[in-house]
Amino acid sequence: MNVPRYGHIVVLSGAGLSAESGLSTFRDNGGLWDNHRVEDVATPEAYARNPDLVQRFYNERRAKLSSVQPNAAHTALGRLQREFEGQVTLVTQNVDDLLERGGARDVIHMHGELLKVRCTACNTVHGWREDCTEATRCPACGVAPGLRPDIVWFGEMPYHLDRIYAALGDCDLFLSVGTSGNVYPAAGFVAEVRRAGYAHTIEINLEPSAGVSYFAEHRHGKAGEIVPELVEQLLKGEAS
Ligand code: NAD
Ligand code: ZN
Repeated sequence: MNVPRYGHIVVLSGAGLSAESGLSTFRDNGGLWDNHRVEDVATPEAYARNPDLVQRFYNERRAKLSSVQPNAAHTALGRLQREFEGQVTLVTQNVDDLLERGGARDVIHMHGELLKVRCTACNTVHGWREDCTEATRCPACGVAPGLRPDIVWFGEMPYHLDRIYAALGDCDLFLSVGTSGNVYPAAGFVAEVRRAGYAHTIEINLEPSAGVSYFAEHRHGKAGEIVPELVEQLLKGEAS
């Protein structure tokens, strides 16, 4: 019988995890996210300046979700969370729902979710699949405008940091999948894991990320090929 080597695995994922599903990353596109500058669509200032443009941008991203499917890396991570004997904490910077659709039970979305909107008047978060405009009334308090994408924009505080740092301090394997290592605080998680002590660290990315030197092991290539192989090894208790 194989005994799993690890008790608690933390997986941090970024846009590269969803690239093979057809969702674009932005570091690979010269800093553009689907042809928009981040400063024009993903900051509180952009929303204050031009709310209609920002709502349209997220309406398009939300609508696109229904035409894409989870890839082999999402389904492998979902399987890992369901079948691994120890604990698996999935932390993602992605705002899509592809890990959930790949079978994951519990995903920490540190940058929010496309399929939610938040009311700036009463703070209620609503599951949301339709378009949202400045004329859309909050179903809870009736105010309009007030509903904004429940996305953590640049300059805003990521969600669930207490839970994430507790997991980073507790894990014995940290995997980073498809993230460029440019956006903090996520880019600093590997250093936090190493500071906490003994965990093994593996980077999986198309190319070495900005933080590659912090990782003990690297597997460079497509997430859709490398992640399923690694998950297989972890479930058999064979990984490094
Ligand atoms: P990023 O665009 O900065 O980096 C993506 C990384 O993935 C790059 O280093 C790239 O080389 C790598 N990559 C590309 N294709 C890959 C593949 N097939 N397999 C493995 N690696 C691959 O994205 P980031 O690091 O996540 O940070 C940027 C921010 O962008 C996040 O805050 C995120 O919220 C936002 N974002 C999210 C989505 C999404 O939800 N799908 C899409 C674009 C941007
Ligand atoms: Zn409200």
